[in-house]
Amino acid sequence: MSNAIQLAASDRVFVLTGAGISAESGIATFRDAGGLWEGHRPEDVASPQAWARDPALVWRFYSERRASAASALPNAGHVALADLQEALGVDSVFLCTQNVDSLHEQAGSPQVFHMHGELYKTRCERPACTLAPFEDRELYFGELPRCPECGARLRPHIVWFGEEPFGMRRITREVQACDLFVTVGSSGVVYPAAGLVREILYRRQQGESCRSLYVGLEAPANAGGFQDVRLGKAGEVLPGLFTVTR
Ligand code: NAD
Repeated sequence: MSNAIQLAASDRVFVLTGAGISAESGIATFRDAGGLWEGHRPEDVASPQAWARDPALVWRFYSERRASAASALPNAGHVALADLQEALGVDSVFLCTQNVDSLHEQAGSPQVFHMHGELYKTRCERPACTLAPFEDRELYFGELPRCPECGARLRPHIVWFGEEPFGMRRITREVQACDLFVTVGSSGVVYPAAGLVREILYRRQQGESCRSLYVGLEAPANAGGFQDVRLGKAGEVLPGLFTVTR
């Protein structure tokens, strides 16, 4: 492919994926044209305030997400990123996803950093509780689950709006060390993820040769931060996009 992105074998790549990469797998993206997420205002189902007000509604929402994601299969976009990790080496490609589904893992990615949590994990709502987040595919439509250690409520292991994403220090270090920063299928409105590309702009202003690339259906809100924008479906643009020269 003439428009391929050339990578040296020594390059480090940071990939940030958003809801758009899972769209071709049948998982709805964040906001529809009316600003709703699967029929809800995001703040009504995915915020600490929503949890305090109506935990049953929050569990119902995430139980529905668990049920519908269970039959989803990874698409060619997920597979292309797993292939990139294999081609360049897993230590050289940091795959960071805002998605809570497990389609990157299902596509064979050996390392995936879930900055916004994971749909199939549950944890105690008490930060001080000793119970570690655990794998959980249960659907909670009736009685709310309780922590076996301390009796508090169990909550989805999800970073809600207003909460701090997991591992921001690690993420920042990886962005600072990469040669190529790639974002796939993210509208560029959810921060701090949308602000990561600014680190690349800053490094370029300092004379570094790092590059940034956006792949997605339409230009994101933070498109100005990217040197290269490739519009199209992730499952069509990503396969064959990267070539590693040795
Ligand atoms: P977003 O929904 O705000 O934006 C999705 C972007 O993907 C849009 O710009 C859209 O044009 C683009 N897109 C749609 N179809 C595409 C395709 N086939 N190929 C490439 N791009 C495509 O997503 P966001 O920026 O990730 O923010 C959403 C937030 O909601 C995140 O915090 C995330 O945790 C959560 N969320 C996660 C999932 C999931 O786990 N799959 C789904 C919905 C929302």
